[in-house]
Amino acid sequence: ATEQTALLTLFGATGDLASRKLYPALFNLYKKGEIKEHFALIGTGRREWDDDKFRSVVSESVKDAAESDQQVNDFVSHFYYKSHDVTNPEHYKVLKGLADELDAKYDLNGNRIFYISLAPRFFSLVANNLKEQQVFSENGFNRLIIEKPFGHDFESAEALNNSLSAAFSEDQVFRIDHYLGKEMVQNIAALRFGNPMIESVWNNKFIDNVQVTLAENMGVGERAGYYDTSGALRDMVQNHIMQIVSLLAMDEPNKYKDVEIRAQKVKALQALHIYNEDEVAENFVRGQYGAADNQKDYRHEDNVPEDSNTETFVAGKLEFENNRWAGVPFYVRTGKLLADKFARIDVVFKQPALDDFARANGTDPQLVPNRISIKIEPDSGFEMKLNKKHVGQGYTTDSFQFTHDLTTEEMKEVPLPYERLINDAMKGDHTNFASWAEVAQAWKFVDQIEKVWNTTKPDFPNYTPGSMGPKAADDLLARSGRKWAFRA
Ligand code: NAD
Repeated sequence: ATEQTALLTLFGATGDLASRKLYPALFNLYKKGEIKEHFALIGTGRREWDDDKFRSVVSESVKDAAESDQQVNDFVSHFYYKSHDVTNPEHYKVLKGLADELDAKYDLNGNRIFYISLAPRFFSLVANNLKEQQVFSENGFNRLIIEKPFGHDFESAEALNNSLSAAFSEDQVFRIDHYLGKEMVQNIAALRFGNPMIESVWNNKFIDNVQVTLAENMGVGERAGYYDTSGALRDMVQNHIMQIVSLLAMDEPNKYKDVEIRAQKVKALQALHIYNEDEVAENFVRGQYGAADNQKDYRHEDNVPEDSNTETFVAGKLEFENNRWAGVPFYVRTGKLLADKFARIDVVFKQPALDDFARANGTDPQLVPNRISIKIEPDSGFEMKLNKKHVGQGYTTDSFQFTHDLTTEEMKEVPLPYERLINDAMKGDHTNFASWAEVAQAWKFVDQIEKVWNTTKPDFPNYTPGSMGPKAADDLLARSGRKWAFRA
């Protein structure tokens, strides 16, 4: 690998995300030689740590992946810590001083990435202080990586974006959606555009419906306080599911470059039909989990109000108003405490218009719909369901499945999502980051649903832990004679 040259300044370096995800990701990049000599990191947080304390925390979070103690020591020698109060402009001058010093020490060419892993209320405050206190370099690049959530609705997201853009232009901003760093999500494009056999039928002439499921089998746990202000629609649909849907629905870009890809994703999202009140009631289902053995119902979880109407489950039907997808529902669902933890995409094809093929042979067999699935996790791979002749006399049919799973060896090579995304940001590649136009469009769609939900009282709790959500989520498809292709 060609070594990337950059100074990373991390806000929130003492936080949970940093030690669970960001340091292991950076360590992998280091092991692979993506970052090496010309790399340094300034960690900031409220705590009064020094470099040694910081380095021991980082060591602890990467040691399981280490080949030797020496490797860890070499890696963390690039890490520096400054206790920082985000509200104090003077502190940014201190950061600037250290940044300039490290730039000279490691020969960083003025390349700077500012990673804000703080509570969202600090996002624009930090960004604007970085600019006003001139922490930016004159040569090299100045980029911003920003965590989720990006706003709470369209209005707040737009205000955040306006405020950020006073300091960083759109091509300097990298909005994290870690689903875009997942191997199998990146395979959507490879499956489609690498296979004319598939892309040529990727439209409403052949596809009956598309299904995206991101299922979790745990409750809200320690994130309850935050989760209760968000809910499944904001926490999972607005970002991760909308991103996956846009990759499934987009037209092929003329060039496989970030600008062109993101333009196609935006175009797809702009073709989403935004629902009116009646349509929301008809096409979106919300759920909240009840109690089970050893499991409190959601309203009795710690830090959740007893009258909470926050949804822990969503299922919905999305419709595109364009020639490729008119008439093809995209069903999505996500929730907590479901039967299993898995993420997958199922693309269900139409049946023959005249299902006369085998019936003509006398036994009224059922052709199953062809289906192509992308398994995102925990298994990573592809499935393709087809029909064949049933072995034996007569002429009936049955189905079979091609399955290709990534091998254990391949799985070891799969980069961590954050590893890939941080590397992309260092390379200046926006492909796997959400653009403002995408985020904006996703909020406009989601806001309409929230608006209707806020005016009606749900009948919660309405699903049992360990199930696949409320019955209404099945009815959503059953109404048109469809069903979820996969059940845990
Ligand atoms: P955390 O609460 O564990 O860490 C917060 C960090 O912010 C700490 O380093 C703390 O020192 C710093 N901080 C807080 N107030 C400060 C102040 N006034 N001045 C300076 N520093 C201050 O949070 P986290 O879980 O690491 O989350 C960080 C970001 O990542 C958030 O935007 C969150 O929404 C996002 N995120 C986290 C997860 C996760 O799994 N932890 C998942 C998705 C998104």
